[in-house]
Amino acid sequence: RKQLLQTLKGKDNVTLDGQKVMLYANIGNIKDLATVIQNDAGGIGLFRSEFIYLEKEDFPTEEEQFQIYRQVAQTMAGKRVIIRTLDIGADKQCDYFHMEHEENPALGCRAIRICLTRPEIFKTQLRALFRASVFGRIAIMYPMITSVQEVRQIKKIVEEVKQELTSQGVEFGNPEQGIMIETPAAAIISDNLAKEVDFFSIGTNDLSQYTMAIDRQNPQLDPFFDPHHPAVLRMISMVVENAHKAGIWAGICGELGADQSLTKEFLAMGVDELSVSPGSILPLRKIILETNVGEYKAGKEC
Ligand code: PEP
Ligand code: MG
Repeated sequence: RKQLLQTLKGKDNVTLDGQKVMLYANIGNIKDLATVIQNDAGGIGLFRSEFIYLEKEDFPTEEEQFQIYRQVAQTMAGKRVIIRTLDIGADKQCDYFHMEHEENPALGCRAIRICLTRPEIFKTQLRALFRASVFGRIAIMYPMITSVQEVRQIKKIVEEVKQELTSQGVEFGNPEQGIMIETPAAAIISDNLAKEVDFFSIGTNDLSQYTMAIDRQNPQLDPFFDPHHPAVLRMISMVVENAHKAGIWAGICGELGADQSLTKEFLAMGVDELSVSPGSILPLRKIILETNVGEYKAGKEC
């Protein structure tokens, strides 16, 4: 079976009736790059940059980050590399951030909320990302967005960073910028958010947690957790529709993207990209190549 999958390398991810989808890889460390290449990923759909922070005893410098982002961009040789900005907080704690104790960390100061409260940390990462963009096709993705206001605040900080780099004579690229849709608030206002960004990537791990109000870390709640909850599936469909209305693409980078029992459904919704662990890429390609989306939709109607 493994051998059979190997024959799918180099093939397009296209359905029998001609619908194309991007199959990208999720990585949490540059050590994963070899398996990304081995499994023929079309790009990196989620690079969890927080590992750079979690592995260290103190804030990683701009230069340290730049080296890592440049290496990923160069290794992927022109393929899109979506790097998610810092997603610390909740389940990922980092001592040197000296975060205050919170009763509800999952609902607390995490991800973009830290970046917007402490812009000096955010700016260091943005500088490294903009500089590394010269060496490949980097895209930047912002996590845990809940409002248009936040996106506008991010844009303001990005402008400041670009101006600083310009005045210092430092070379930088022009990365695409997108957001994660992983809160119900973002999903519901995705029509408005779509007008502000280049792409959406749906984080179904958090979107499911926040939609069902079930802690993703607590296995005792498994009996109450329905990964195929219609509320989550409807939101995914709505987000894709709103993205397309605004002329941008939408993908899925949460665990649900690799759920083979949903692949046809995602194709029917028009999902443009699935970003999954490297080992799931070829099995998903196989399903895509065997699917006729038109027939699947017609079959659902009757
Ligand atoms: C998600 O929430 O679905 C996601 C991809 O991000 P993380 O799992 O890192 O929170
Ligand atoms: Mg998340």
